[in-house]
Amino acid sequence: MPRLPLAAALLCGVLITLSCGLLSHCGKQSSRGQAAYVHTEAILAFGPRPPASEALGKARAYLTTTLAQNGWVTQEREFTAFTPKGQITFVNLVARHSPHGDSSDLWNKPVTGILCAHLDSKLFDDQIFLGADDAASAAAAILELAAGLSKSPARAQQLELVFFDGEESIGPQFTDRDGLYGSRRYASDWRRQDLKPKFGLLLDMIGHKNLSIKIPSDSPEDLADLLFRVARAEGEENHFRKGPTPILDDHVPLNAISIPTLNIVGDFAATNWWHNSRDNLDNISPDSLDTTIRVVHAMLDNLLPTP
Ligand SMILES: [Zn+2]
Repeated sequence: MPRLPLAAALLCGVLITLSCGLLSHCGKQSSRGQAAYVHTEAILAFGPRPPASEALGKARAYLTTTLAQNGWVTQEREFTAFTPKGQITFVNLVARHSPHGDSSDLWNKPVTGILCAHLDSKLFDDQIFLGADDAASAAAAILELAAGLSKSPARAQQLELVFFDGEESIGPQFTDRDGLYGSRRYASDWRRQDLKPKFGLLLDMIGHKNLSIKIPSDSPEDLADLLFRVARAEGEENHFRKGPTPILDDHVPLNAISIPTLNIVGDFAATNWWHNSRDNLDNISPDSLDTTIRVVHAMLDNLLPTP
């Protein structure tokens, strides 16, 4: 690239800064989407991530290291469950913000909200399934949101991050007993507690090209209203709508124990990539990730009180 004289370079810098303030899609804003894209790519590089796989363990280690760089402490919560393929050991990864490290009471403090996604990918015997948008991209978006939140520690400390294991069924189809292993276990941990979080936000399939989010019909009304309000304020309302039916996903066990949880989920049934090998990195768009990150960040600004 030819070099510019210093004065011209400075002027360019001023113009770029000015235009970033005026345009909603300048490079600076989409850098959050780009960062989440890089996290998605890193998670996919480990290969398919079914429960108890080495790749899933490596993905969890990547999340732990990345979160630690921004003051988030993690805990691996291991449990076993019977599945159509016998007993499997699952691990939920939970994180809280604590820039000064783990403390004895860190995990007993009440939190205002939960931000969660599943990290496992569905097991297929007949194809390589990476689950780029189902749901590596959601975990990646949470890493980027966590980095942003860490700049406001008082807010970050009101949130618990959760990366569920075993969202996908081990057999071909969801049943009452096969699927949602991690979120069912996580919800049962909260059931016994008096001070539950006031809300949950679940991200699932939120980074695909031509972003199309369709929340379930049984979404908590105030959280759905807030989603549409902030999406409008961000100029992104065309990407978000409400579907006519409920969806069985990780929000269901949380709603069942009275933690109202919104599933911000892609319109997967309308795609040609859901649960097949097309759900790879080519399916992911930094701009879509950026849209989701900005909208969820704006929701959290509304939901987490300023101390
Ligand atoms: Zn899936």
